[in-house]
Amino acid sequence: MLSSNGDSVPVTTLDRPFHVMLKPIGPICNLDCRYCYYLSKEDLLFGKDKQETLTPPLSLEGRGRGGKWKVSEERLANYVGQYIEANARFGEVNFAWQGGEPTLLGVDFFRCVVDLQKRLAPPGVRVSNAMQTNGTLLDDKWCEFLAAERFLIGLSVDGPRELHDVYRVDKKGQPSFDQVMRGRELMAKHGVDFNALVVVNRRNSQHPRKVYRFIRDEMGCQFMQFIPCVERTDFVQIAPQTWDPKSLPVVGDRSAKPARGEDALVSEWSVAAEDYGRFLCEVFDEWIVRDVGHVFVQIFDVALGQWMGLGSSLCVFAETCGNALAMEHDGSVYSCDHYVYPEYRLGSIDERPLLEMVQSDFQRKFGDDKRDSLPRYCRECPVRFACNGECPKNRFIRTPDGEPGLNYLCAGLKRFFTHIDPWMRRMAAEVHAGRPASNVMNVARSQRAAAGFESVGANDLCPCGSGRKFKKCCMGKAGRPS
Ligand code: SF4
Ligand code: SF4
Repeated sequence: MLSSNGDSVPVTTLDRPFHVMLKPIGPICNLDCRYCYYLSKEDLLFGKDKQETLTPPLSLEGRGRGGKWKVSEERLANYVGQYIEANARFGEVNFAWQGGEPTLLGVDFFRCVVDLQKRLAPPGVRVSNAMQTNGTLLDDKWCEFLAAERFLIGLSVDGPRELHDVYRVDKKGQPSFDQVMRGRELMAKHGVDFNALVVVNRRNSQHPRKVYRFIRDEMGCQFMQFIPCVERTDFVQIAPQTWDPKSLPVVGDRSAKPARGEDALVSEWSVAAEDYGRFLCEVFDEWIVRDVGHVFVQIFDVALGQWMGLGSSLCVFAETCGNALAMEHDGSVYSCDHYVYPEYRLGSIDERPLLEMVQSDFQRKFGDDKRDSLPRYCRECPVRFACNGECPKNRFIRTPDGEPGLNYLCAGLKRFFTHIDPWMRRMAAEVHAGRPASNVMNVARSQRAAAGFESVGANDLCPCGSGRKFKKCCMGKAGRPS
């Protein structure tokens, strides 16, 4: 087997495709979101002193360039070739582009990518592309291209203006909401497929329904992801799981909560564990009475898969991981996007075949440790089958009996998975019986309505959650004249 540059590469022993998130412009971004874990990589990996002068986006000399931060053509071709070759036997190869902000490279860069993919993909192998963007630089030219090449876009948005602009600001601290919405409109106009990626942070976690309704109704988006913002204050220098175990607080301890100040363990914009759980429960309660089958919330879909015994399609809730790596513009490959630290560098694609890095003992152990390092508290947890201790990067507190390695989000995750259990059982049973999961909405509405009919007024919103007035909805069914 030969790679695109003619070197021999190892034969795959993988039984499923692996993923690489490529950062073709490194950590460079035109925004300066307060909670971004990636902007700091500019210093950590490449060192301020090693940089020429770079104050993005000004030094990018226009959008079509990436300066020294742009992945080289040769490296790009090497990567695309190896990635296709390694995954082609699965019939489909998915590329993921992230940053920094990948659109800073300009649309012509991605035209070259697609040309490369078309040249290198064997007949019959489907190639797809997903790109995560803040959407602020999109224009007609971009959107025509994205639609024509069927890119799936993950658009970062944190809710309506007053919630989005709290943390998602540009280099001058100016809000980005209007530009993001402009990008959304352009994508809608050109028929680009997009998901909303919501970072659930300290602020928007207080407004679950407002955020959910905004994405669903105002943005008209049927696909959404809620990603918890969890940021240790020392994350810039200290790699996950290299923490001093003695320094980890016990669950429930005040120091295990977001706070201001130098002594805080978790940044003030991180979501509190309980708030994340409450956020997901409230969104779920709205979804279960009106949106099953036509609004897709990633964590709900993944949970249904878990309740059906299919395993998790999302690494954070899978038993093991290690199948989703990250590659920097300089060719360095890391164990995971959240582990872009020297300790987790597997090598450079310029020197070591990608497949060899993916199948290395180090990477296998990295993935297996997700299961093997679970504390007893998790192993005995009734919702472990769904949670699996979530992502190891967040396992920096101790269990009530003092064992390290419990997930910071535990309280919220437990609450959420326990809350949805009866509904997931019903939905799984419906699907197993060959019926649509959305049948569950009838039961949910009846229960909701029965609980709220007594005190509701004719012009109030119906307690069943339909969004209609009571008199136009369940008032008759409730035995009251409509
Ligand atoms: S470390 Fe976390 S984000 Fe990375 S692959 Fe494992 S579960 Fe996924
Ligand atoms: S809910 Fe908490 S105890 Fe249960 S598996 Fe998840 S992190 Fe572990």
